[in-house]
Amino acid sequence: RAKKDGRNAYRFFTSEMQAQSARALLLENALRRALERGQLSLHYQPQFALTEDDEALESQIIGAEALLRWQHPELGWVSPAEFIPVAESSGLILPIGEWVLKEALSQLVRWDRAGLPGLTMAVNLSAVQFRHDNLPELVDRLLGEVGLPAGRLELELTEGAAMHNPTVAITVMNALHARGVRLSIDDFGTGHSSLSYLKKFRVSKLKIDQSFVRDLTEDAEDRAIVDAVIRMAGALGLETLAEGVETPGQLDFLRRQGCQAVQGYLFSRPLTAAAFEEFVVAHIQAPLSAYAI
Ligand code: C2E
Ligand code: MG
Ligand code: MG
Ligand code: MG
Repeated sequence: RAKKDGRNAYRFFTSEMQAQSARALLLENALRRALERGQLSLHYQPQFALTEDDEALESQIIGAEALLRWQHPELGWVSPAEFIPVAESSGLILPIGEWVLKEALSQLVRWDRAGLPGLTMAVNLSAVQFRHDNLPELVDRLLGEVGLPAGRLELELTEGAAMHNPTVAITVMNALHARGVRLSIDDFGTGHSSLSYLKKFRVSKLKIDQSFVRDLTEDAEDRAIVDAVIRMAGALGLETLAEGVETPGQLDFLRRQGCQAVQGYLFSRPLTAAAFEEFVVAHIQAPLSAYAI
């Protein structure tokens, strides 16, 4: 047993661990019923392409990222940062992930019918889904059911999901690429990706993690990292999208370095489907005025 000194620390540690696993168990049980009880929904955050026209910055909505939301009657809103890991470890991420894909694609069809410009729908994919045998077939089936071409879908993968087994990842990426589905690396720079794999991976975009964007205007090292990622991506023929853009100063730096796309609170928080539709219509009518650039 631990010595007298260390004992309290040890006890504290175990009770904290117990509390954590009790919460995880509670969430797992609640999550098991969340789908059938209609507690899950998607919010959509607009993504913008940056283009320069006569020195003036233009921003154009190119797509939406679907972000999962869970509202439980007693627990309230539970953050995806907390429940996605529970969904992954319990296997629940497979049915939930399928629901997310189906719902996001169905929403894209509704927006098409409402006359919105042809947007891309970006959907987050967990490592568990990515590794699952039937992902390419599942994607085929869902696209067929809603009647959308594969090019309208973009799947976001983290470096961890791609690097877990790079050989398998390359096979799955090739299968998705052959169908015309676009792939992006989410949270780029925070995982441990081997740069040599970037040229073998069939990805079209790197999403620069918000942790590098946050202090861009104050932190020269973050500026150096972001600049290097944008240059490397350009040399490899990959697009870049910066996440978590909150200030005009960050946007200005990203634009000058040649970052092609952005998303973040400066433009919009994730929105309900109805609010997203209104936002797109308003943005088309009054492109830049809202951001004070
Ligand atoms: P992510 O895919 O990197 O998503 C970006 C997160 O940053 C979202 O948090 C979004 O709401 C937030 N965000 C966007 N703009 C800003 C900004 O300007 N400032 C700040 N501070 N934050 C911003 P959210 O919705 O809480 O999602 C967290 C993570 O949960 C996601 O990170 C993703 O990894 C995961 N996730 C969400 N939905 C799904 C899903 O359907 N499937 C899977 N597998 N994972 C999901
Ligand atoms: Mg994402
Ligand atoms: Mg991200
Ligand atoms: Mg993230």
